[in-house]
Amino acid sequence: MRMLRFADEFGPEKIIEVHNPKVGLMGVVVIDSTALGVGKGGIRMTPTVNTEEVFRLARAMTWKNALAELPFGGAKSGIIADVKSMSLEQKRKIVTEFGKALKPVCPSQYVAAPDVYTGEEEMRWFVEGNGSLKSTTGKPHDLGGIPHELGSTGFGVAHAARVACEHLSMDVSNVTVSIEGFGNVGSFAAKFLSEWGAKIIAVSDSKGCAYSKDGLVFDKLSEVKHRTGSVINYSGGEVLSHDSIFEIPVDVIIPAALPDVINKDNVSKVNARIIVEGANIPITLGAEDVLDRECTLVVPDFVANSGGVISSYVEYEYGYEPKKAFEMIEQKIKKNVKIVLDRADEMCVKPRNAALEIAKERVRSAMKQ
Ligand code: NAD
Repeated sequence: MRMLRFADEFGPEKIIEVHNPKVGLMGVVVIDSTALGVGKGGIRMTPTVNTEEVFRLARAMTWKNALAELPFGGAKSGIIADVKSMSLEQKRKIVTEFGKALKPVCPSQYVAAPDVYTGEEEMRWFVEGNGSLKSTTGKPHDLGGIPHELGSTGFGVAHAARVACEHLSMDVSNVTVSIEGFGNVGSFAAKFLSEWGAKIIAVSDSKGCAYSKDGLVFDKLSEVKHRTGSVINYSGGEVLSHDSIFEIPVDVIIPAALPDVINKDNVSKVNARIIVEGANIPITLGAEDVLDRECTLVVPDFVANSGGVISSYVEYEYGYEPKKAFEMIEQKIKKNVKIVLDRADEMCVKPRNAALEIAKERVRSAMKQ
């Protein structure tokens, strides 16, 4: 038996490798924990994905789902594939075959979703191979899916920011915000925070950063991003480099694009009261410790960006019910961010450690039962 150096008291419960040379499929599913329910997590298709990476992502889902109090465990899949160099037909065959090969565990122990380089069409193919509509969420609307484009994750991130402001006795309608990334998560976070009166003073994308100390108008930003492909073409603001977004003095920063963007090289230049992690792992652990010492409140990724998986739960349970999904996201994120920030204060630890403790308590107690 192969010893797994990353195994511990929580999991993983199962690692299933799937090979089918006929269609070029090499994939893996890691079901980390089913203590709270079927393992839930997306399918990542990259040339470099490996079992350890999939395990780490599956473990992150175990904590995210536990913290959101969803009846889901944690899991994740990876398919080794260079999707940019393959035809759509090749990709379809691989994903369909993956869905078929996973029938023994999916949807009984694992439910899939989109992740890097997979989206709603891939979920359609997965269902075609698997045969069950319950085998995945993030499906197209005609299969009962709740589309990503409705902005569930950004909506949850905006609520997390609002609760963090309240925690520091700040009024969201009075704060300044900068947002790294104007894709799905960043643009919807900007939309909702603008609607609540927050002043969005800087927004970046891969081309650079648009900045105005008087505030950027969300509708104008959105229009210019759609029309020209970048926020830097916003008229009436300054254009800065995308890295400088973290150095602008502001009340709230929302990193919503890349990993490790706040790190040892730039953490000393960060000048914000609150950071809400919209992206996954945007701050290195070392930089997070520095921010904690300097009393910058960091709402961790698996607490702040769980809107997507909460929407997945609604799809899994009820089908296309976006109103229900948004109500549940608001209720759960408000409650859980508050619990985490209060617990962090009580224990004098950073919010990430408080959140992990709560998630572990919930999983342990389910394991006992
Ligand atoms: P997306 O592809 O829709 O948007 C990414 C944005 O980042 C784009 O606007 C892109 O221009 C921008 N970007 C790329 N390089 C940049 C740079 N150097 N500086 C500034 N911006 C840059 O992606 P998304 O779905 O919004 O996901 C963003 C992050 O949130 C990822 O870390 C993802 O894992 C995480 N996340 C997403 C969801 C979801 O439901 N979409 C859920 C949980 C976590």
